[in-house]
Amino acid sequence: MPFKTLGLHPDLLRAVRELGYAQPTPIQAEAIPPALAGHDLVACAMTGSGKTAAFLLPILHLLLQSSRGRTRALVLTPTRELAAQILEDVNELAVHTAITGAAVFGGVGMAPQEHAFRTGVDVLVATPGRLLDHLTHSYAKLDSIQHLVLDEADRMLDMGFLPQIRRVFKHLPSKRQTLLFSATMPVPIVEMSREWLRNPVPVNVQRQSAPAVGITQAVYPVAQHAKPLLLVELLRRGDINDALVFTRTKHRADRLARTLVQHGVDAARIHGNRSQAQRTEALAGFKSARYRVLVATDIAARGIDVAALGHVVNFDVPAAPDDYIHRVGRTARAEATGDAYTFVCPEEEADLAQIERAIGRRLPRVTVPDFDYHQPPPPKAAPREAVSRKAPAGRTRVRGADPAGEPAPAAGRKTPARRQSSRGSVEADASSTTVAPVPGGDRRPPARRPAPARRLATGSQGDDSAAGPATVAVTPAGPVGYGRSPRPAKGRRSR
Ligand code: AMP
Repeated sequence: MPFKTLGLHPDLLRAVRELGYAQPTPIQAEAIPPALAGHDLVACAMTGSGKTAAFLLPILHLLLQSSRGRTRALVLTPTRELAAQILEDVNELAVHTAITGAAVFGGVGMAPQEHAFRTGVDVLVATPGRLLDHLTHSYAKLDSIQHLVLDEADRMLDMGFLPQIRRVFKHLPSKRQTLLFSATMPVPIVEMSREWLRNPVPVNVQRQSAPAVGITQAVYPVAQHAKPLLLVELLRRGDINDALVFTRTKHRADRLARTLVQHGVDAARIHGNRSQAQRTEALAGFKSARYRVLVATDIAARGIDVAALGHVVNFDVPAAPDDYIHRVGRTARAEATGDAYTFVCPEEEADLAQIERAIGRRLPRVTVPDFDYHQPPPPKAAPREAVSRKAPAGRTRVRGADPAGEPAPAAGRKTPARRQSSRGSVEADASSTTVAPVPGGDRRPPARRPAPARRLATGSQGDDSAAGPATVAVTPAGPVGYGRSPRPAKGRRSR
């Protein structure tokens, strides 16, 4: 079905064409007609399904029918990154119109955001906390809102935003259109929709979430302490060209980024302890292919939309199946193809089994030929006496391998952001991370295929079940030795 049959304004159709959208995705085909007719919607849409355009296009169309000068649409999102991404989508889709937008989120100055309120931008994209900060001031008014979007409602609920959302609602006119988008539909979301929406049209309500079409998924069994070097090896072999890599904690994100940099991989990190400027720099550097790897915690990665992203790596197995689905949805967005690799250590097998039950199939196990699965864990560094004697209670920190077994950084030194020669090199990331030479490490810079600028990729659909990742041996289902002998390779696969 072509876009033009949806009855959208010609200026929007032109933008859609220029963005290379050949036809509406299923969620767009289902959501746009009732939204254009003014109905409320409860839409169950996965990340990467094209859900943002599914709510923005009808809203922009309706905004074009009424007079400007007041803020008439509000999109509430759980994270800053997602807010920034949605604003980017507003600007792209409305490029041939006079419609304006602004994002309102924490970590950056209030003044430009205040200006957006005062000038009455047409569309505000906001996180609930910062929006409420503004709403304590008289310049901030939401009384002309005609269209409200609750995006990633399940995630906002998980993040404890429900009380803030309730407070935002007090500032909104009761006569409005409300579109609720959520990847999953737990009971509280259904209750929210009953309370806040009027006869909502259910769209694409799925009983069970599933990863977006086109994702090739594989599991790499590996001992916890060998995970960083397995990632380095996959990058070195060129099996992974660039990747968004998820870790369980901010600390592990920091340490992994440091290890990658020590091995000559251009890597940046993004998590809640990073300033907004650092997050923006990391994301921009990754999008422009300056960084080959972006290490992220789950929450921070919400809203990251890097078209043509080839790989998502779950460095740690997500604790909940929904998080797995969200994460792997970062690749293969809008039905392009992508790979999602999950590193699993024995302690994480139970979580993986839960994910496999939720997605309804067992994922192929993969071993990497020639990778040293037997490498011993790094020695634990002895506690530093001076630290343990002098540090006040509660602040003593023992340097060494973390409990999860990741290699401890060698005694660090601060290097300026610069490159040294590739052999034995230390390559600092933009934030001058603390690095040190890797004892005995393979310091050859990992292989890099020519890196195309990351851009929109649409069209081809991969077969989720067929192909395994390139140049790896796929083992039969069943436990594979984590640090024990890998099973003999059954053969190579290539795509
Ligand atoms: P999201 O809106 O987060 O689900 O992500 C959608 C991604 O797919 C973004 O990169 C969009 O630019 C892209 N996209 C949205 N709609 C389409 C479409 N109809 N055809 C191709 N790509 C699309």
